[in-house]
Amino acid sequence: QSNISRDQKLRQRAQRVIPGGMWGHQRAAAVPAGFPQFFDSGQGATVRDVDGNEYIDFMCAWGPIILGHQHPVVEAAAQAQAALGLCLDGPTEHVVDLAELVVEMIDHAQWALFQKNGSDAMTGCVTIARAGTGRRKVLVAHGAYHGAVPWCSPSLVGVTAEDRAHILHFDWNDTDSLETAIAQAGADLAAIVVSAFRHDLGVAMEMPTPAFAQAARAACDAAGAALIIDDVRAGFRLDLGGSWNLVGVQPDLSAWSKAIANGHPLAMITGNERFREAARNVFVTGSFWYSGAPMAAAAATLRELRRIDGPAVMARAGRRLRDGLAEQAARHGFALIQSGPPAMPLVQFAGDDAQATLGERFCIEALRRGVYMHHRHNMFLSCAHTEAVIDAALVATEGAFAALAAEGAANA
Ligand code: PMP
Repeated sequence: QSNISRDQKLRQRAQRVIPGGMWGHQRAAAVPAGFPQFFDSGQGATVRDVDGNEYIDFMCAWGPIILGHQHPVVEAAAQAQAALGLCLDGPTEHVVDLAELVVEMIDHAQWALFQKNGSDAMTGCVTIARAGTGRRKVLVAHGAYHGAVPWCSPSLVGVTAEDRAHILHFDWNDTDSLETAIAQAGADLAAIVVSAFRHDLGVAMEMPTPAFAQAARAACDAAGAALIIDDVRAGFRLDLGGSWNLVGVQPDLSAWSKAIANGHPLAMITGNERFREAARNVFVTGSFWYSGAPMAAAAATLRELRRIDGPAVMARAGRRLRDGLAEQAARHGFALIQSGPPAMPLVQFAGDDAQATLGERFCIEALRRGVYMHHRHNMFLSCAHTEAVIDAALVATEGAFAALAAEGAANA
């Protein structure tokens, strides 16, 4: 490619003034080699990098974009408030409007508090659970991601043992290991934290089994502890009333962020009556947590998702993608493992190594043909992924499978 120069130049400049050139999940090291680092715009289901290359977007900003980039209804709502003021001396009316809306939409929710990031919301849930129970121990699944703060960060760099002193682990969907961790916590059990489904990096996604979900609920009821669902990543893509509606289990507290405002910065804690008093007593705040435009954007996003039945739209698109990839893979001699809910798919090549080398080669070939996918992290569909968009993406993936097959990479 002759037109990668803007991206390369920005990387060189970034190396001098940003440690490591970029941080966190959106650094280029987290995507296949040769993927662009810098983008300049998005529209609908398409993103455009700084060199003007356009891609059908299957990462959706790693979750936030749920209606499509630059959704007109959401942007109009956000801009109307932004034109009046970004940060004022108190919140706007949007905070009440939004809280009423989520209490109506989300089954367990009887109140809501707003923050900026998923890590804020998850940390707030844990703080509220501890305040409400007067206890310390928090159970978390091995390998689950809940944020970039010391109590739960996947990295121990800069983290002390004391930061983790009251965190105990269990294995996802393993009721016996959950019982063992509950016994370890004893009378000090404050909360059990679960993801909407198992979406750990690089391993096949797993939905919660009803037996596991019910065991977690029953254990919290028996112990007087809080069941906390981390719906930061899956929230509003599976069920607008909360992701564990799929297994018929309600949490006491839930954390939300990513898709809640279609890209505008916002996070949310929802809770039931039992934890209202604790939520009122803890000290949680932030300089930008009251700004109205993201709340206006969130209300518009959620109303639009409800109007069009967004989860059904995304599930249909995801199934079309999954079926198309399965058919192409079989025809070209590849065995795929496709896991996760269709709206949040992970595509793996059977027998691939831990780095997903074959998956990475596939993504590079797809990128060359105008489709942006990920080989190890779950992908995200949006409501802008129409049948025509999926079919266009499948033309690219057909070419990618053919290119890998021509190199003799078939694994079936
Ligand atoms: N929980 C889950 C399940 C997540 O996927 C994320 C973000 N990837 C977080 C928490 C943390 O959210 P944030 O990055 O907005 O702090």
